Amino acid sequence: MAITWDGRGSMATRAVARWRSRGTGAGRWRRAQWLDGGHAGRARTETKVIKINAVIAHLLAPHVPRAARALGIQRTVAGGVALTFDDGPHPDGTPAVLDVLDGAGIKATFFLVGEQVERRPALASEIAARGHVVALHGYRHRPQPVLRGRVVDDDLARGAAAIAEAAGVEPVWHRPPYGLYSPAGLEAACARGLKPLLWSRWGKDWRRLTTPERIAGRAMRDLGAGDVILLHDADFYSSKGSHERTAEALKLIVRELKLQKTSTVLPL
Ligand SMILES: [Zn+2]
Repeated sequence: MAITWDGRGSMATRAVARWRSRGTGAGRWRRAQWLDGGHAGRARTETKVIKINAVIAHLLAPHVPRAARALGIQRTVAGGVALTFDDGPHPDGTPAVLDVLDGAGIKATFFLVGEQVERRPALASEIAARGHVVALHGYRHRPQPVLRGRVVDDDLARGAAAIAEAAGVEPVWHRPPYGLYSPAGLEAACARGLKPLLWSRWGKDWRRLTTPERIAGRAMRDLGAGDVILLHDADFYSSKGSHERTAEALKLIVRELKLQKTSTVLPL
């Protein structure tokens, strides 16, 4: 089965495969068998899980708007363009992004990772204090489809608690790592009152071989009111130093938004 994204397989699928290849513990294989239904051999399970993940990634990928709509997953906003940043807070990336946003008078949404919030709670608090939305990415940065439903639910609870403790705000918006929801994960998020928000534009700023110009160009291509732009203010789960390119790209993006007189909004 070939599921493609820019001809190279989806980011999410590759992320799942990469994450899975990092260990072979019994727990991980039990999680694999949750997707497989239980009793297949290890090799067959591996293949099948990756295929299932590919299907899930494809179904919930933002370039399949109809699928996202059918599942009730929001990927656009009303009234303007929304800037969103995943994977922080980061000691260098987040302040750099905040300064660019403040300089442009733009408010954005930050999907925070609980384990990073616990390491630097003051930064999570500062994001909220500067008028931005703090949202939940997860407690750890793991793809939902390789986790059991209960584990995902615990992860959501722990991540939300970390944000509430640090920033004094209960997160409302949620975006899972890699934009990947498992059926149980989507159900758990909704049961907790979290509102899923994916994206409709991205800069692919996690890549090692990219430039601020390419990131900005990709994010701004065919941009229109309602688009949600995905960027990353941290390099914890992407190529080293990626946040530096993101901060530079953001300067180009906000300049272009001003030139086009495109307004920015927060998700409502
Ligand atoms: Zn992420």
